[in-house]
Amino acid sequence: MKDLAAELQQRRQQALYRHRRIAEAPQGPLMLIDGREVLAFCSNDYLGLANHPEVVKSFKQAVDTYGVGSGAAHLINGHTQAHHALEEELAEFTGRERALLFSTGYMANLGVVSSLLTQGDAVFEDRLNHASLMDAGLLSRARFSRYEHASPKALAQKIDRSGAEEKLILTDGVFSMDGDIAPLPELARIAREQEAWLMVDDAHGIGVLGEHGKGSLEHLALDAKDVPILMGTLGKALGTSGAFVAGSHDLIEFLIQTARTYIYTTAMPAAIAEATRTSLKLVQQEGWCRAELSNLIQRFRNGAKELGLDLMPSETPIQPLLIGDTVKAVSISEKLLEHDILVSAIRPPTVPEGTARLRFTFSVGHTEEQIDRLLMALERTIQ
Ligand SMILES: *Cc1c(COP(=O)(O)O)cnc(C)c1O
Repeated sequence: MKDLAAELQQRRQQALYRHRRIAEAPQGPLMLIDGREVLAFCSNDYLGLANHPEVVKSFKQAVDTYGVGSGAAHLINGHTQAHHALEEELAEFTGRERALLFSTGYMANLGVVSSLLTQGDAVFEDRLNHASLMDAGLLSRARFSRYEHASPKALAQKIDRSGAEEKLILTDGVFSMDGDIAPLPELARIAREQEAWLMVDDAHGIGVLGEHGKGSLEHLALDAKDVPILMGTLGKALGTSGAFVAGSHDLIEFLIQTARTYIYTTAMPAAIAEATRTSLKLVQQEGWCRAELSNLIQRFRNGAKELGLDLMPSETPIQPLLIGDTVKAVSISEKLLEHDILVSAIRPPTVPEGTARLRFTFSVGHTEEQIDRLLMALERTIQ
């Protein structure tokens, strides 16, 4: 049996030990965490919908209608009118025939990939894909290959050599730890040439990118023919919880019949679905939010440049500053906390060895003054 205490001690020594902070407040720029009021730059609540009064109201009303628990899986009797309506609205929002809800994004990814692929098939993944996509590829038992980050050329070489009948290309739309956008038009072209599936996980693009908040695909003017499988999460910009997969009628029907993480799990609470219907409306109505968010991001990037800080190239609300050394990244994040600013140090194995970073994320709820406060604290801590 392995010595757990020794392994934990080793993690502590390498500055890799993780611990939970305890929040006593809803998501928002100012939060009470571990008994201390902090200005937070680490949430995925990009549009401030997690505690939006209208979303909260829909949730409460739906609890009166449906109760709290959904009681069973979708295929038993847990699939309510609320779930069904949300699926139809997500299909329309994404311009696809159908959409299917999953209880989490992690499960959506595992479910789709294991349904479509098996031994003898092949899966191709960007090497910086989210952990859930990596696990999905491994769980499927298909032949697993990773290509150089954001390199269609590297993908083309690998996929060209594959003799597999069934091929699936998997990529994040917006890379979760880097904030850059995948070269989707080129990936779509390769998928077409190779008769491979292309699936995009747009957890950080949905709600944020594109004129109507439809995500990376809208941003790059791609449609369902280019990207037949679109996965999006509800726990980030949409401010609730869960995920969806959108695609053709046959794809969704096939997933209902075969995706194990869909079949063998309790449906998300109906009230979450109702709350999400309201956030989806807000995402579409409140286009100004995306413009405001871009302004805040630009203000941060300009300010960081003046301080001589070399941010990674990103036009999304995920703005990483590469530090490299893990101990140093953790130490800067601790110093920022002394200024009551909460920013995560992202360390291996979440990112490759030697690429520890500070990952700033922005929300439309932040003010310009708060961005300036962050820049001032950075000036004092990083030099
Ligand atoms: C957050 C995230 C997921 C997981 O979604 P959950 O609903 O939180 O399980 C999957 N993929 C990416 C790219 C993510 O950022």
